[in-house]
Amino acid sequence: MRITNHAGRLALLDPVTGPDEPRGVDVEQASGGRFAADPQAVYARWYEFRDWAATVSFDDAAPLDANTLGAVTPRPPQVFAVGLNYRDHAAESGFDLPTEPLVFTKYASAFTGPRGDIRLSPGDVDWEVELVAVIADGGRAIPVDKAWDHVAGLTLGQDISDRVTQFAAPPAQFGMGKSYPGYAPVGPDLVTTDELRAAGLDPDDLELGCLVNGESVQKSRTSAMIFPVAELVARLSAIVTLLPGDVVFTGTPSGIGAGMTPPRFLADGDGLTTWCAGIGQMHHRFVAEESSR
Ligand code: ZN
Repeated sequence: MRITNHAGRLALLDPVTGPDEPRGVDVEQASGGRFAADPQAVYARWYEFRDWAATVSFDDAAPLDANTLGAVTPRPPQVFAVGLNYRDHAAESGFDLPTEPLVFTKYASAFTGPRGDIRLSPGDVDWEVELVAVIADGGRAIPVDKAWDHVAGLTLGQDISDRVTQFAAPPAQFGMGKSYPGYAPVGPDLVTTDELRAAGLDPDDLELGCLVNGESVQKSRTSAMIFPVAELVARLSAIVTLLPGDVVFTGTPSGIGAGMTPPRFLADGDGLTTWCAGIGQMHHRFVAEESSR
């Protein structure tokens, strides 16, 4: 099953249509009001929704306007982001490998959809492609072997980062440097793990990457994570009560701009394409803060 945020309304995607010409049904209308239009509300009733979604006919599916897609988690109650979760990225960042997940937050107001313009903050703005897990049924002390049962599905994210704000003074300010408006794009869809498996993909081994102006800068596989999704859910829930609709940014592989020689950062007019096998692509353009475009 795949869901998306179509112009602010929850939509269930027709499984037989591809990402280039998405088609779907409006969930509130198709369910006769049983499920709300608000995409964020669905995670609190995830298992009931999943059962209903399996009964839906796509005979009346309509084309979706990809330019109006919003975040599949527009207002997550809690956002966890994990730093240095790939060995090669920890190395390029000059840090030792973490022995515990390095957890920070991206504030919820930074969330945006899978397309559109993002305003550049004044500092050095960098890209970080990341797999994003969305929590369905939350709770505490979730064991590793049950962790995937608490995940509604996977989506794609960019942990856009202002490196000047992040490293303005020691110690680093991860949350602030990564929470300018639009710095947490997610999408285009939320995909369930059974849907990925049906497509022959392993939810723990998805290829992902991003391109700046068409040039590949990051490419890796999620199997290279130090702490995989299930391990993160277990370790986070050992401390924090997870809530339906919570979001986990799972860390980025190597290839960030700050790790290049010389460093390279996003500039006015740059296009960023972010992709993950089985999930889809996001397309963003960066515009100068003072630009009137
Ligand atoms: Zn990150």
